[in-house]
Amino acid sequence: MTASSLLGDIADVGRDRSRGGYSRHGFDSAELSLREWFVAEAVDRGLDVTCDRNGNLWAWWGPPGPDAIITGSHLDSVPGGGAFDGPLGVVSALAAVDAMRAKGFKPSKPFAIVVFAEEEGGRFGVACLGSRLMSGAIDPSVALNLRDPDGVSFAEAVSAAGLDPARMGRDAEALANIGCFIELHVEQGRGLIDLGVPVGVASSILAHGRWRFSFTGEGNHAGATPIDDRRDPMLPASQLVLAARAAASGVDGARATIGRIQPIPGGTNVIASTVDVWLDARAATDEVTRNVVAEIKAAGLSAAEDEGCSLTVTEESYGDTVIFDPALRDRLAEQLGGVPALQTGAGHDAGILAAHVPTAMLFVRNPTGVSHAPAEHAEPDDCEAGVAALATVLEHHLST
Ligand SMILES: [Zn+2]
Repeated sequence: MTASSLLGDIADVGRDRSRGGYSRHGFDSAELSLREWFVAEAVDRGLDVTCDRNGNLWAWWGPPGPDAIITGSHLDSVPGGGAFDGPLGVVSALAAVDAMRAKGFKPSKPFAIVVFAEEEGGRFGVACLGSRLMSGAIDPSVALNLRDPDGVSFAEAVSAAGLDPARMGRDAEALANIGCFIELHVEQGRGLIDLGVPVGVASSILAHGRWRFSFTGEGNHAGATPIDDRRDPMLPASQLVLAARAAASGVDGARATIGRIQPIPGGTNVIASTVDVWLDARAATDEVTRNVVAEIKAAGLSAAEDEGCSLTVTEESYGDTVIFDPALRDRLAEQLGGVPALQTGAGHDAGILAAHVPTAMLFVRNPTGVSHAPAEHAEPDDCEAGVAALATVLEHHLST
């Protein structure tokens, strides 16, 4: 099967009619049906599928064991996301198995395709929950108490999906089996377009995190409250948006984004009592990222004070800069005939695992450069180049 035809099989699952693109979130009905689809595809190929304690799916070609070569990605999306971020890595892994099989190749080491749970944090707010839980990067009690916008806790969602919340947390056994992890992903940027090549390898991931800024003022009537009597948290919230842009603009390679804002109660004729604003900030180093966030926070505090509002800031997630295993990266680039290495601003499960096991990523060219939006794309020929590249590096690793 080709990657494009496999993507075609799931093209109707989780379409978001209002936002466009896809909304497939951890353990919601769309993601659960994608997980079912993956299990069926894996079983069709004679792979043995297990679900680990943290909800990650593993499809083994041959018996599980130590020093395993693992590839895979995720099936969930951001709200209104594209068709390729995540699923491309999963379908390419399945297609790579088909390609290796067609050549009569048999792995001489344990090999599995993994599908990590809730990578985007689109439902519970923390990215890479499956890999963070497995590697111990998040305390299970913190993860289990996260709530989606409807108030459903992560514990409730995983219970409904048949998992035992009490068993979630660091999975030393699963980690110990991973000899190396190679994640194929659609590129989230224009690096490969500018270089004119379909496939590259990853060099590093920017430090990145998410912060919630809660501005509290006084809820009141939009008509009956004179302007001078207001403590309207929407004002400092708005200023925070501008402060984020200003703070990141002055720093080479830094990004600060406010893509989500929630006034409570959220009525047209109501002065909000609270406005929650979520900041996503990233930069090349931990220090620079922290400095950018500190500057935005200072601006938020000052704007809140000017309006007689209060501000609390909560760090919802954070990941330091990731440098992918240089030896593995160079080996992959060489096996693929000298493909380029690219830095990325996007977080990945591979970034979480890189702290524990040798980890690498392959990127497939995205002709729009756009990601986390419906315009995200990869041409069928480039998807096949990605599958061929993945099969090549897997064969190298599985035959030695
Ligand atoms: Zn992704």
